[in-house]
Amino acid sequence: MSWFYALFGQIIFFLKPVIHLLYPDLCIHCKRELTAKSPYLCYTCLMDLELIKWQRKQTYNQVFQAIQSTSVVQICALYRFRDSAPIQTLLHELKYRHNSRLGAYFGTVLGLQFQEENATVFAQALIPVPIHPRKRFDRGYNQSELIANGVSRIICVPVKTNLIKKAFNTKTQTKLSKKGRAQNIRGSFRISDDIVNYQSVAIVDDVITTGATINAICEALLEKNANLQITIFSLALAQSV
Ligand SMILES: [Zn+2]
Repeated sequence: MSWFYALFGQIIFFLKPVIHLLYPDLCIHCKRELTAKSPYLCYTCLMDLELIKWQRKQTYNQVFQAIQSTSVVQICALYRFRDSAPIQTLLHELKYRHNSRLGAYFGTVLGLQFQEENATVFAQALIPVPIHPRKRFDRGYNQSELIANGVSRIICVPVKTNLIKKAFNTKTQTKLSKKGRAQNIRGSFRISDDIVNYQSVAIVDDVITTGATINAICEALLEKNANLQITIFSLALAQSV
């Protein structure tokens, strides 16, 4: 059957320009036609993504305050979240419109950014923020896991999905207040006993909004392994953090 796949590949290769002409790839945000160099967002929208500069002490302190846990040793978030901006579309496409390829792509960008800042990785495993199995079944994937796979490709730390499980299918967080989010999520994670074999892990999320999810996970992890050092990776970070 390998000849069949080879032939199929050849046909697709030659048909690609025609397909592109009939159905051009469009920017996920503004719907303008894309060039080959930027696969998901056009140049203008790409430029609109606000890279977070971690050198700015103010941002750093702000997030550390929200995260609370003294066991968090490093945080790396890629873009500033803004309503109605390309970053919101990007996250929405990834989470609700089955555009799963965005996860690995921007996960890789996050890994590269981390590397560029010459940061040393203090993590033996990348742990994607888990979603309930029911939600995963409906969506077909966990977006944080896709991002983690992209980061892993660059920093060469394995992704472990068996260390944290989501025990309850909590209500969606988007419409809740800061206090409501914390109450909603607290105690909804189950940690594997294997966590005692780790000294350091990294949690990977798609967006940090109030820090409630990350705080709840840190709390649950440290309950089982008080000496754990935690790094956080996130594709986006809201101003409200
Ligand atoms: Zn655009």
